[in-house]
Amino acid sequence: MSSESSRCIQCGSCSSACVVARITRSYNPRRILYDIKLGREPEERAIWLCLRCHTCESRCPNSVKIPDIIGVLREESLEAGRESKAVEVYLDISETIFSEGVTVLPVSGEVKEFKAESGLDLPFLPQEVRAELRKIMRSVGFEDRLKKITGGGLGGRG
Ligand code: SF4
Ligand code: SF4
Repeated sequence: MSSESSRCIQCGSCSSACVVARITRSYNPRRILYDIKLGREPEERAIWLCLRCHTCESRCPNSVKIPDIIGVLREESLEAGRESKAVEVYLDISETIFSEGVTVLPVSGEVKEFKAESGLDLPFLPQEVRAELRKIMRSVGFEDRLKKITGGGLGGRG
């Protein structure tokens, strides 16, 4: 990670292009690189806001792999047990993908009604497809990773 971040010249192109930085001042990829350069821990909350969309990397004059750096920081945070509340959102989404095959389930009657009326009420994945998806996710270690992070549980939905 240090050799990757050492190529950063602090030009700020990543922050200008970042889709998250556009909507919140809490996130600034250039600042994360700055902290790393100074040997400081970047702010914990910030590292969980990145979408890993790679837009910054495509704009960086030195092609610094910022999403990969963020990935390493997240791994370190998880390994050190420092994960913040933000991780819970990822865990919820991960568990829903694992159990239902979708990222977010409809939450309110209003949303369900709108989807039905607009013809957007797509059925959930058939059971056999969900089972196949779980099999694939298990084979790539997704379930083990989730269990490790949650301390063994999958919210009773595995
Ligand atoms: S665009 Fe690249 S060089 Fe510029 S601040 Fe971001 S990481 Fe550093
Ligand atoms: S990968 Fe992260 S830092 Fe880069 S543009 Fe996307 S959200 Fe911003």
